[in-house]
Amino acid sequence: MSRDEFRCLMCGHCCLNLVDAYRGCVSDADLELWHSKGRHDLLSRVETLDLGPGNRLHLAWIDPETGDDVERCPWLIENPKDGGHSCSINDVKPEHCRSYPEHEKHGRDTGCPGCSPPAEKLGQA
Ligand code: SF4
Ligand code: SF4
Repeated sequence: MSRDEFRCLMCGHCCLNLVDAYRGCVSDADLELWHSKGRHDLLSRVETLDLGPGNRLHLAWIDPETGDDVERCPWLIENPKDGGHSCSINDVKPEHCRSYPEHEKHGRDTGCPGCSPPAEKLGQA
């Protein structure tokens, strides 16, 4: 399965259950994109740790008021009609979200139903 063939089923599993999807590091490129687009709402949910020359970590997502890590991605929207999920920042979501799943085995190993064998996919559609 290539990335072109992959079809997300909008189940929300990756955003809800894979902790590193919503509580991990975002990249320098993500921050540059959000700065260029004036997305202060996104930037306010990132904490940068300076670990020394050339070594900075950008942690996301945090609560901008308390500075605490979130327990759920703040950008995930549930569709009340079908229980499906979508990303409210899809056009600017972090690189690691855009690249999930990295390959079919990665998807299968982390429970993505879009990477299940065809018979299972049909059963969940
Ligand atoms: S787990 Fe797979 S199918 Fe479900 S939302 Fe994430 S990428 Fe899409
Ligand atoms: S930013 Fe979007 S794709 Fe990434 S975890 Fe949150 S809702 Fe999911």
